[in-house]
Amino acid sequence: MQRFQQYIGGVFEDGAASFESLDPATGQPWAVMPEASAADVGRAVDAAWDAFCSTAWAGLTASARGKLLYKLADLVQAAAPRLAALETRDTGKIIRETSAQIAYVAEYYRYYAGLSDKIEGAHLPIDKPDMEVWLRREPIGVVAAIVPWNSQLFLSAVKLGPALAAGCTVVLKASEDGPAPMLEFAKLVHEAGFPPGVVNILTGGPAAGAALTTHPKVAHIAFTGGPETARHVVRGSAENLASISLELGGKSPFIVFEDADLDSAVNAQISGIFAATGQSCVAGSRLIIQASVKDAFLAKLKAKAEAIRIAAPDQMTTEVGPLCTQRQRVRIADLVAQSLGQGAKLVTGGVVPEGPGFYYPPTILDCSGLPDVAGLRQEFFGPVLSVISFETEAEALALANDTVYGLASGVFTRSLTRAHRMIRGIRSGVVWVNTYRAVSPIAPFGGHGMSGHGREGGLAAALDYTTVKTVWLRTSDDPIPDPFVMR
Ligand code: NAD
Repeated sequence: MQRFQQYIGGVFEDGAASFESLDPATGQPWAVMPEASAADVGRAVDAAWDAFCSTAWAGLTASARGKLLYKLADLVQAAAPRLAALETRDTGKIIRETSAQIAYVAEYYRYYAGLSDKIEGAHLPIDKPDMEVWLRREPIGVVAAIVPWNSQLFLSAVKLGPALAAGCTVVLKASEDGPAPMLEFAKLVHEAGFPPGVVNILTGGPAAGAALTTHPKVAHIAFTGGPETARHVVRGSAENLASISLELGGKSPFIVFEDADLDSAVNAQISGIFAATGQSCVAGSRLIIQASVKDAFLAKLKAKAEAIRIAAPDQMTTEVGPLCTQRQRVRIADLVAQSLGQGAKLVTGGVVPEGPGFYYPPTILDCSGLPDVAGLRQEFFGPVLSVISFETEAEALALANDTVYGLASGVFTRSLTRAHRMIRGIRSGVVWVNTYRAVSPIAPFGGHGMSGHGREGGLAAALDYTTVKTVWLRTSDDPIPDPFVMR
């Protein structure tokens, strides 16, 4: 079995304990991972704090930090095939997707490399003579970054990129499910030449996460995961009063009007829900379809879903692979059973296949007329699409917003005016019109409600890793008068 190490203070080491990682395609152990103890986490935070205060890092110019990030970007690009193979092996995400996504991860590091020396302070036209007042943008401190299993390299890049550009140091806790690509990525950080302790990477479960997010030297927590875990993180942050950004789940509406290009919408819906085997926070998992085109649309969708090639994730021809964990497969099967018990109709899928691995087929549930079934309320985080129909635009909007989440949404229509009305009315952090799932380092991303708060990507994300220092400088050479002598 392959063995992986954690990376603390510039040194690769075994963890206090270890655990076996399962290959989701076979269900068999394939690698041994270090499991960070609370003491390991504490050492990592101390290393990050020391690095934060060191001249080796704090003494670098912003441009020099940018050069290190450019180097990292090049290394990620060169290592993309190796990293993709590891992510596919350890999480079951298909190689076609990991290859494309990780190559693009390099662009995130490039974007933030370029931004390093553009994080500017300001000069204030202060209302007092003989005073100069300006604002310095300074790095906030040690960042605790926590990511879930899906797309770990991508979800880390949107934290590490802006944090390092701003001059912070980071302890990143990879998910205990599928951490291999992150532990391999640590080697690239090392090779890029970041001073020891600037980036520390370890893995472990809730105990390691809690030790990290409650640590007194942590100034900011960048968390991606589910809302339940987020509650623990927020409660834990009462210890260190760290600032927090939360990127959580979703139950994103995918709205199709009768005037849409239906074939395009079908293709977008197929990738919107079945890409990454549905393990995507932005999965378009609620199809809200105009009743007049529902039957035709569902027929096309069903045919395409049933033609999807489900096979080993390391094959380039595979279109849907296994889920990351057996735990996740059981949960999805339970939620499907619950939805059917509540009256939803099975259009396709829904049967756990025999054989090894954590596979679950593309599944469609018709929940029309049943707005409260689990299929329309709960995030499955799997390849399950729930469908509900509407008659009017107002009804479509009401259904779209009938959720505790607010991450992403899709609208398919040829009407420009309707598109604008929907954009205005939908409560979600991202709206895609006649497209779905597009992302870029240049575009902010995030949600509200149970989908969290804060934005990743874009210029503003780097500012979240800074704090403002207000500087007052007296320009007069006159002595400061004694305040207690009457003039
Ligand atoms: P999760 O919440 O179970 O775990 C996420 C991370 O939190 C893991 O690294 C885990 O070890 C850690 N963790 C667990 N308990 C902790 C604790 N008490 N303190 C600190 N950290 C702790 O999430 P998951 O099941 O791995 O991932 C799926 C969820 O992530 C879904 O809800 C999905 O929508 C969400 N997600 C959101 C985005 C986004 O950008 N909005 C992206 C991907 C995934």
